[in-house]
Amino acid sequence: MKKRVYLDYSATTPMKQEVLNAMLPHFNVQFGNPSSIHCFGRENKAVIDQARQIIAKTINASADEVFFTGGGSESDNWAIKGVVSALKGKGKHIITSKIEHHAVLHTCEFLEKEGFEVTFVDVDEFGIVDLNQLQRSIRPDTILITIMYANNEIGTIQPIKEIGELAKKHNITFHVDAVQAYGNVRIDVQELKIDLLSLSAHKVYGPKGIGLLYIKKGTKIIQLIHGGAQEKRRRAGTENVPAIVGFGKAAELAYQDLEGHVKHLTFLRDKLINGLLEKIPYSRLNGHPTKRLPGNANISIEYIEGEALLLSLDMVGIACSSGSACTSGSLDPSHVLMAIGLSHEVAHGSLRFTIGDFTSEEDVDYVLKELPIIVERLRQMSPLYEKVKGGN
Ligand SMILES: *Cc1c(COP(=O)(O)O)cnc(C)c1O
Repeated sequence: MKKRVYLDYSATTPMKQEVLNAMLPHFNVQFGNPSSIHCFGRENKAVIDQARQIIAKTINASADEVFFTGGGSESDNWAIKGVVSALKGKGKHIITSKIEHHAVLHTCEFLEKEGFEVTFVDVDEFGIVDLNQLQRSIRPDTILITIMYANNEIGTIQPIKEIGELAKKHNITFHVDAVQAYGNVRIDVQELKIDLLSLSAHKVYGPKGIGLLYIKKGTKIIQLIHGGAQEKRRRAGTENVPAIVGFGKAAELAYQDLEGHVKHLTFLRDKLINGLLEKIPYSRLNGHPTKRLPGNANISIEYIEGEALLLSLDMVGIACSSGSACTSGSLDPSHVLMAIGLSHEVAHGSLRFTIGDFTSEEDVDYVLKELPIIVERLRQMSPLYEKVKGGN
């Protein structure tokens, strides 16, 4: 088989074998509906509660504060729409940032049409939220601050503790999309003063279509999905038992050896970043040099189209992304790269490599060998690059 190197772990991760093994019996053997009172149901109810406890522990929450959902997008939608609906008598102002995931950004834009007011706070050149601007944006009628823990495109990690303290001081509900951070940093919802936290299993070697919303006890929020009494009457629908079991196993594995995982990824990431910047002229790193996810390498390569790079890399079996999975395929430059101040042209020539637990040093070496050749070839066809070279 042709060589294939997967470097798109921020789009999704392969499930770990142990996760799959834990899930399998729940498709056909232990298949009962957790709401049924007979033994088939009861044994699955116990299994769900077990997974809930495991995951709650990884974020220092109690099990009755975590609710399973259909994924990270649903968790974000529930947190934001649920809180502002519950608090609309108190105010109509929401604060978020310009670099949020579309599940947050598009939800906020939808709410603007519904009569809410949203402040989209700027970020600096590294993608760090402007804390002064955030503070100045707070109004008496601000009811929600929603800021992501770590960015999915450039990997920048935000000062969540400072924002949490600010929100607490002004008595504003604080939501954090931690989908990318989970399994890569230690998250303590109490220490960070987080009221709501979104997670998704398929970014941490678990199955797709299962997520979770942490809701701190006492937080005012209405439910999004009405129906049965599942999830303590707050999120209806028969539980996806295999996926919940898989999420629990993935969470357990993710925090079993966090330090080892971070060390492995950071070593490969830095080798990739340093190698590419050294071998490719007119290239730069996007995001923060140190406050970044251990597996994220986002590079701009000038005078080339990112899509052309993606296709050429795909031909040699290397899978990465030209921005977030949602924006590739469209010709609009990434809103994140725009927000950190890149020009349209430079943003278009950007690649996101995301490294994971199954990435080897050989994989990184393969990219370091192939990408400079591709860049050289594509640049030879670029009239713009000829002019630049000629001018030097
Ligand atoms: C992937 C992702 C989501 C969406 O999660 P799904 O489970 O795919 O719906 C939300 N936020 C961030 C930061 C993500 O990376």
